[in-house]
Formats: sequence, structure tokens, C-alpha cells
Amino acid sequence: MLGRAYLQRTRRSITIIVSSSIDRQQQVLSSNFPSSYYSTTSSTMDKVVTKQKHLTLNEVERICQRALSASGLNDIATAAVTDAVTTAERDGCKSHGLFRISGYCEALLNGTVDGTIHPKVKDAAPSVVRVDAGGGFAPPAILAGRNLAISKARTNGISCLSIHNSVHYAALWWEVESLARENLVALAFVNSRSFVAHQPGGKRKIYGTNPMAFGFPRAATAPAPAVGQWSDAALSDEIHGPLVWDQASAAMARGEIQLCQRDGHTLPEGVAIDRDGSPTTSPDAALAGAQLPFGGHKGSAIALMVELLAAGLTGSQFSYEAADDSDDSGANNSPSNHGELIILIDPVVTSGGCDGYLQHCETLFERILEEEGTRLPSMRRYANRRKTPLEGITIPLSLYDEIVALGDARRDDIL
Ligand code: NDP
Repeated sequence: MLGRAYLQRTRRSITIIVSSSIDRQQQVLSSNFPSSYYSTTSSTMDKVVTKQKHLTLNEVERICQRALSASGLNDIATAAVTDAVTTAERDGCKSHGLFRISGYCEALLNGTVDGTIHPKVKDAAPSVVRVDAGGGFAPPAILAGRNLAISKARTNGISCLSIHNSVHYAALWWEVESLARENLVALAFVNSRSFVAHQPGGKRKIYGTNPMAFGFPRAATAPAPAVGQWSDAALSDEIHGPLVWDQASAAMARGEIQLCQRDGHTLPEGVAIDRDGSPTTSPDAALAGAQLPFGGHKGSAIALMVELLAAGLTGSQFSYEAADDSDDSGANNSPSNHGELIILIDPVVTSGGCDGYLQHCETLFERILEEEGTRLPSMRRYANRRKTPLEGITIPLSLYDEIVALGDARRDDIL
């Protein structure tokens, strides 16, 4: 509790002066591509009304590492989470970059996550790896079970990595892209705290924002870099990375709604209802009410599937069970304990060892891209990845100050 009080004081003390400026990152990046390539959500990318701080990616890594370590996270987990956060900033995925650090630290400081925990890996069956994350963050748990799951997929053609008792607070492309770079097809499913109503008809928060991600190998991609090697030149030199899509089953990711709230933007229609179940475009009312799944009943069905795979199948709590009933303000930014299921498929085995299956898949991509106005999912991230190591990134100055203050604090002083 004292940790939470410290964080609240810190936030108040660094509240910033508002001024008007255009997001420098958008100016830099829009020179070659339409802005929709770079924005996490185009609706959030109007004028940014906060003072900005420019950072190199090395600085991003450093302030992230310091804040997590000072909050009591062990070195292995700090390296894994720092990699997830730094690569999110590198790829222009703001909602899972430095914006998340205060949530990570708060979870450590208020005891939601034990920073000293190391995940336990169990060889559960010829094709199944189970990881008990021990209530810790998901990235170190994924890394702990990853190599065994890869070798099982290569031996058996398919395997799954079943993670329970974990706190997932990151974007899922991080894990599936890395597996696709091992020439495996990867599908990942994660549930969360309940934020999303079942549609049609529901008003109550039942589902998490329940993301799922898909990674598919492509010819001539670089091998997966080790943790912390996010600046590996092979990544920016390759013509393209693996095909990856990664999306929440909510119409809008919660992080995006929080960014709209922070930046004073309204929401698009159809992403949320207020406490009474009426449609709303107010971020405050949406966060206090419920989010909607994408695509009505079809999105609800996907959210239900993710819930069953990520929680039901891994032995983890459902999103409605993870919800903190004492907090119905929508202000709770702390991550919750839940599960993740990752399925790995070796396409060499499923395609009967046929030569040229990758080239065959390339013909589909070429066919899609022949039409003007199309792009493949993940192209936005890969385009950002070539630029941010040179240009750096920007974040609100208030966010920078907050993260630096977290890194400056000694945990013993805080608790
Ligand atoms: P988006 O709607 O921004 O993007 C979804 C996918 O669609 C991405 O793969 C994106 O590729 C692709 N895409 C977007 N526009 C186009 C286009 N014009 N043509 C082709 N493909 C396109 O994602 P969400 O807002 O749903 O989710 C954001 C993130 O939030 C995800 O990374 C997700 O994992 C994360 N999340 C994490 C949670 C957790 O508990 N850990 C909970 C919920 C969400 P590209 O990246 O190249 O734009």
C-alpha cells in the first residue's frame, strides 16, 4: 500500500505543463509512409498536447531497466520485460511501450507481482510444455519454456506452451514473431482482467480484451535475436520479417483507450458502452463501463474462444475471476494474473516436407500486395523498425519524468 501511495505522490509531483506541439515522431515517420502505417491507432494521432521528450532506443532501454530493477524485479525478468518494452517503442507500438512501465512497477511495488520469482518449466507430455510463471510477468515465463516447446514442435510437428499463473502486460507479436523466426508457425492467446461485454445483449464485463497473435515464417528472414539484441542489424537489413498479426478481440485495445483519455481524444463509435449500457465515445465513461468486442457476435465468439484456450485450458482464472471487484472505476492500471497458450506448428512436417512451401506462400502475399492500398499486417512495425534506431522516439515529458523517478527510487525507501 505504501508503494501505491509513493507512486501516486510521484505522479502528482511531476504533473506537467501543457503546451501545443505536433508529435515529432509522426513528422519524421510520415515522410515516406502514410501516418496510418505508424500510428498504433489513427484516431489517437491528432495533435499531441503535452510536452514531449525525445529518446534514443538505448535510452528507452536504460530507463526501463532502471525502473524495473528499482521496483524489485530480478535481472532475468528485467531483461525480458525491458526487451518487450524497448521493441514495442522501436516498432511504434506505443500502447505497450514505456506507457506500461508505471503499471509494471506498481504491480511489483504493491505485491501483485513478486519480482524475485523464477518460472518453473515442466515437460508435461511429448508435445506439451507447462510453465508455472509463479505469479510473475509473462515474458520471462515464455522465454523459460520456449526452447523446449520449439524442440518438441520439431520432433512431433506440433507442440504447445501452456503458461499459467502469469501476468501478461505486453503485446503478443513479441513471442510469435520470435517463434516464426525459428521457422515455426505460432499462435498465441492471452486472457486478462474482464473489460469486455458479451455481444449482443451483454452489459457486464465478462471477457478480457483477449488478444491473439499469429506468426508465419517467410523466406529469407533473419534468425530470432537473443533477448536484449533488439538493435541487431540483421533485423533492419532484411527485406521483410515473418508475417505477423496481433490483435485484441476488443474493438479497441484498452491501452489505446487510456492513451485517448491521457491525450484528451474522444473514442470512435462502437468501441464501448457506459455503466448503463449506452454507447459512449468518452474514454472516462468507457473505462468505467465496458468495452465491446470487434464485429458483434463474431468478436464475442473469438473472445470466448481466447478465454477458454488461455484460461480454461491452462488452468488459469477467467478474466471475470481476475477482475478486481473493489475497483469499478476503470482506473485500475495494474495487470492481473491469468494464462497464455502458445501453439507451435512445424510447417515442414505439415506440408509433407514439400520443398518450396514458403515460396508458394509468397505468391499469396504478392497477389495481395499487387493491389494499391493494401499492406500485410506487421509491415507497419517493420517499417518503423528501420527508422527508430536512427531517429529515436518521443514520449510525453510527464511519462519520462515518472519513469526516471521510479528508477531513482530505492525500493527499500518506497516500501
Ligand atoms: P490493431 O488493431 O492496432 O492491429 C491489429 C493487427 O492488424 C496488427 O497485426 C496490425 O499490423 C494489423 N493491421 C492494422 N492495420 C492494418 C492494415 N491497414 N492492413 C493490414 N494489417 C493491418 O491491434 P489492437 O489494437 O487490437 O491490439 C494492440 C495490441 O494490444 C496488440 O499487440 C495486442 O497483443 C495488445 N494487447 C495485449 C493485451 C495483454 O493483456 N497483454 C490485451 C489486449 C491487447 P501492424 O502492427 O503492422 O499495424
